[in-house]
Amino acid sequence: MIEASRRKEILAGERSTVYSRGEPLLGGTYTEEEIEAVVKTIRASMDPSVGFGFGVAEIENFEQEFAKFCGVKHAISINGAGTGLDMAMMALDLEPGDEVIVPAINFKAAALSVIGQGGKVVWCDVDERTFQADPEDVERRITPRTRAIYPVHMNGMSSPMDELLEIAERNPHSKHGPLQVVGDAARALGGGYKDTRIGKKGCCTIFSFHTQKNMTTLGEGGALTTDDDELAQRFRAIRQFGAGQGWGTNYKMTKVQAAVGSVQLRRLPEFLDGRRRVAHERHELLAGLPEIILPYEPAECWHSFYLYTCLVPDAWAVEKRNRLISIMSADYGVGCCVANPPQYTQTPYLGKMTPGQDLPRSNRLAERLFCVSMHPTMTTEHNEYICSALIETVEQLRSE
Ligand SMILES: *Cc1c(COP(=O)(O)O)cnc(C)c1O
Repeated sequence: MIEASRRKEILAGERSTVYSRGEPLLGGTYTEEEIEAVVKTIRASMDPSVGFGFGVAEIENFEQEFAKFCGVKHAISINGAGTGLDMAMMALDLEPGDEVIVPAINFKAAALSVIGQGGKVVWCDVDERTFQADPEDVERRITPRTRAIYPVHMNGMSSPMDELLEIAERNPHSKHGPLQVVGDAARALGGGYKDTRIGKKGCCTIFSFHTQKNMTTLGEGGALTTDDDELAQRFRAIRQFGAGQGWGTNYKMTKVQAAVGSVQLRRLPEFLDGRRRVAHERHELLAGLPEIILPYEPAECWHSFYLYTCLVPDAWAVEKRNRLISIMSADYGVGCCVANPPQYTQTPYLGKMTPGQDLPRSNRLAERLFCVSMHPTMTTEHNEYICSALIETVEQLRSE
């Protein structure tokens, strides 16, 4: 932990804007290489025989490279992860009343995609150390109507996929067989699980290239991955007006985005190394600060550290946690966010659509968690500033 005198010195120095937001707006960063890829793709498209067509090398190459990176057979590029979540739920062919189990501590998108396809959201709790769907709790919530388990690889780390897949096998649906396990990896590109990358396990996985995520394709974009040939074909059809075989619309990304995606994917190890360097350095800078529980990385996971998720002690829930976030911002210019409260409270519509479901464990956890601004370009100086600010804030709150 940084000494008090050294903290004063560090905090007297210059502030940076890189840590001013809890979730910085730019996840991946751009170099001349991305800019050149954009210009080159636009120039080449000016040829009237070329145009901005879709069945083109830029998109095919990006999809192949992305599939290879995740270690899967198929990657299908799309215009955003929200779209991909909808497509994954469409492929389940839910009947009214069919249930999908979704962690309550989550972004709103997965639950919305269930409701969008006429399904019923059944919320589950998450593990207090990993923030991932708790397999025991998932199993307790299975009914004869359950069709799928829908873990989110929360804040950059993998869900316990093997446990969830085993539960899915053990509790088959009477008509459709084993439950499907669909992963929302919008925050978790590049994360590892056992000897695989996130995107390999489960029937399919959805990634986001939105501007805040681990890499980006000009602000929006996404991909689905799967090893299932039929499912891949279905996704490709839905993306392109149904391919004559069923319902579909236009969910495609542009070839300019795909060209940028190829460059970003080559640079992804650099982004991930940056996040992990900042996170591991932070673990050391904050070690020994008794009140703050630092992010936990189980042996079978390789965390991508999309967010740096911490907990305050039970006695600091709500009031002191909220004070901590406001002091960090007002006094030190460091952004923190709460990612995320249970979606039945954070998103009124989801509360309305899931009446009577209230999970005390998730409620309590959300009152204690906070994420300290994280970005792959942060330097040791940035990190020392952020950690000094956090230690000072905790000491102030301790004495109140
Ligand atoms: C960002 C995010 C999404 C939505 O991604 P888009 O590409 O913006 O549609 C979905 N789920 C989670 C967990 C996210 O963080």
